[in-house]
Amino acid sequence: MDVRVRIAPSPTGDPHVGTAYMALFNLIFARHYNGQFIIRIEDTDQTRSRPEYEENIYEALKWCKIQWDEGPDIGGPYGPYKQSERTDIYRKYCQQLLDEGKAYKCFATAEELAEMREVAAKTGKRQGYDRRYRNLSEKEVEERIAAGQTYVVRLKVPLTGECVIEDAIRGRSVFPWADVDDQVLMKSDNFPTYHLANVVDDHLMKISHVIRGDEWMSSTPKHVLLYDCFGWTPPTFLHMPLLLGKDGRKLSKRRNPTSIFYYRDAGYLSEAFLNFLTLMGYSMPGDTEIYSVEQICKEFDPKRIGASGAVFDVLKLDWINQQYLINNIPQDQLWKRIQEWSFNDAFMQKLMPLVHTRIKTFGEFMELCDFLFINHIKYSNELLCPKDLSSELAMNALQGMIWHMDEVENWGRDGFESGGKRVAAVFGIHFKKQMIPLLFGSMMGKHHGPPLYDSVTLLGKDRVRVRLLNSIEFLGGLSNKAMDALKKTWKQASVDVS
Ligand code: GLU
Repeated sequence: MDVRVRIAPSPTGDPHVGTAYMALFNLIFARHYNGQFIIRIEDTDQTRSRPEYEENIYEALKWCKIQWDEGPDIGGPYGPYKQSERTDIYRKYCQQLLDEGKAYKCFATAEELAEMREVAAKTGKRQGYDRRYRNLSEKEVEERIAAGQTYVVRLKVPLTGECVIEDAIRGRSVFPWADVDDQVLMKSDNFPTYHLANVVDDHLMKISHVIRGDEWMSSTPKHVLLYDCFGWTPPTFLHMPLLLGKDGRKLSKRRNPTSIFYYRDAGYLSEAFLNFLTLMGYSMPGDTEIYSVEQICKEFDPKRIGASGAVFDVLKLDWINQQYLINNIPQDQLWKRIQEWSFNDAFMQKLMPLVHTRIKTFGEFMELCDFLFINHIKYSNELLCPKDLSSELAMNALQGMIWHMDEVENWGRDGFESGGKRVAAVFGIHFKKQMIPLLFGSMMGKHHGPPLYDSVTLLGKDRVRVRLLNSIEFLGGLSNKAMDALKKTWKQASVDVS
């Protein structure tokens, strides 16, 4: 069999370590079996997908030195590889399911759906949609459309019986159909959902093995059903163990550094980063921990993939990175590599305008700019709670900055400034006396330095985010309850100003 595997990232955020993790295992699998590794961009969520996120995925994977054989940027025999360019294909297949009575048009309004969810929650039902439009007559469907009602297309999921899935990693799983919703296949904007587009593409692109994160396991029954409806043979599924944070919960940007760029900007070696990622899901014979991608490609055995979640422990990554530094970078190359990382002309040219009038001697350069070249800032209460700011308010403010950064497109210089002002206003914090020193403290570990907003642009979004998170952690962290309450305040305040 020709082995063809793919990753199918959605360009809806910063390039996630989970994308590198999946890309890496797909690459290893493809190389081991002399197959092809494909990137397909799943950008059918029109509201959340952005071209710059797509570019970032390529850039991040290139930093990891993960090379693909087919993809939107390099083409290939089964293109286009971007779902937004394939919408006619999905519409055609959706129509086929409608014609064959395997799918139906559903006219439920947002209010109806909300009501159904409430009922389901009260009665403890697993699925929220009560299938009320599943059996409309053709005439009624036509009348509703003529009256201008919008609709989605839903899959007719069997009402009884069960779906059995043989996963190559997890073994056999059984899902009662009664627990599975009539999945939406086509949204009212005439764009497909992930489920339809993903299955159609995996089939048309001749994907032999779907290697993806465990979080997709619960979607697999719907996919298997779709293959069945179309009369296609499903690929072999391999659901990889989830990446977990140290707290045992799914790795999430709300709590952990998850952007691949963070690891690049913090000065990790991509070889070490990849080695670390392979350890997340795999164990080499003899528990060897340091090995190259080439080596694992050669020796790969899918049976050695673990089934339970893997803890993404940065201390372990640090240790691996150090092994690579010692063993793979000769002493006489070290400075060159550090230069390439952050002591390069391009970076220094951006930094010099911030330094020029602020040092009396060269010796003060590092005193001023140390924060741009270090990963661990020594926080203290004095730093993060200036002028009697309570630690609780400081944490709220730092979390508000994170949310603001997530919301605005221009997060850099201007975004940070407007964020600081907004947060100070929302939480009643004195902007000059408390907010500004707090942000200096969090970003630089001191209350004075080069101009704050230009400095955060140089630090880069991901390191800024991690420093905000680390500062919150230093102050004791926000409990789930506190976080929920805070989110409400934040949302309410955003409504009030708009
Ligand atoms: N678009 C999905 C994602 O964002 C793809 C999941 C899959 O591999 O099927 O990860």
